[in-house]
Amino acid sequence: PFDVLVVGGGPAGASAAVYAARKGIRTGIVADRFGGQILDTASIENFISVNHTEGPKLAANLEEHVKEYNIDVMNLQRAKRLEKKDHIEIELENGAVLKSKTVILSTGARWRNVGVPGEAEFKNKGVAYCPHCDGPLFEGKHVAVIGGGNSGIEAAIDLAGIVKHVTVLEFMPELKADSVLQDRLYKLPNVTVLKNVQTKEITGSDSVNGITYIERDTETEQHIELSGVFVQIGLVPNTDWLGDTVERNKFGEIVVNPRGETNVPGVFAAGDCTTAPFKQIIISMGSGATASLSAFDYLVRN
Ligand code: FAD
Repeated sequence: PFDVLVVGGGPAGASAAVYAARKGIRTGIVADRFGGQILDTASIENFISVNHTEGPKLAANLEEHVKEYNIDVMNLQRAKRLEKKDHIEIELENGAVLKSKTVILSTGARWRNVGVPGEAEFKNKGVAYCPHCDGPLFEGKHVAVIGGGNSGIEAAIDLAGIVKHVTVLEFMPELKADSVLQDRLYKLPNVTVLKNVQTKEITGSDSVNGITYIERDTETEQHIELSGVFVQIGLVPNTDWLGDTVERNKFGEIVVNPRGETNVPGVFAAGDCTTAPFKQIIISMGSGATASLSAFDYLVRN
């Protein structure tokens, strides 16, 4: 069996695997798509000490770093079941069953899409999902935020400090965000809130140039010209496959303590698939290292 088996090959998983392998213990990593979300990221400017890089380049760097070590990399493999017996078993979709003394879950998350025309086409060309990451790219421009929940309103407040104007589009007749956030938002001079509207299309040519929506009560169609659209309707963790073996919260995030421990002894978790409050590359890597050191500690004690 492995000493440490990492499930997920994004920043969290790569970091966990490198930390484990550096202890000289038997380490494996299973990934559906090695690199994870950063493969879909154009420009990265907040990975501290690297002024600027591109997602696919960072993914290649991760892979190179992992390959420096004696790590069994199983790419293009999906885990479908976790079971704790003598060892922890991970069953893959291809039927193989891997055994390990400890497991680190780092299966990440995916942004929920609005699913309107233009969204996929203009991803990274005006359609964005992360205000911390891409907000500064829209300095002085007009952007929209789709979604009036906490993440949407936080994004709108954050963006209002950088961009020229923010239009928030909420499908329901009322915003769902906490009232403190709404109060903050309504005090800002450069924000417009549209409620009870349905996004119909994100328009553009080379990049985004506008958004078309329907006012739901009158069924009239409207169009606004703008340069960016932030979709903020939820981040979904890739944890469905765990069933009820590992404790998750109502959002599906794996519940971890500050050491990266889950409710199952020997099972740790890191990165965007967990209850970690902020989802960023640097944070995922840090939590991957934490989970890995905790797994090592567990191996030493058991
Ligand atoms: P992920 O990157 O999601 O990796 C998860 C891994 O698990 C992948 O390898 C996946 O294939 C694998 N996996 C999933 N399910 C299974 C399964 N069942 N079996 C096996 N493997 C599985 N953050 C920043 O800090 N700066 C930025 O500029 C930035 N820009 C972003 C732009 C975009 C468009 C997106 C989508 C995200 C951006 N982020 C950015 C967020 C950042 O990418 C994530 O916080 C980070 O990738 C999370 O790392 P992770 O390892 O936890 O998960």
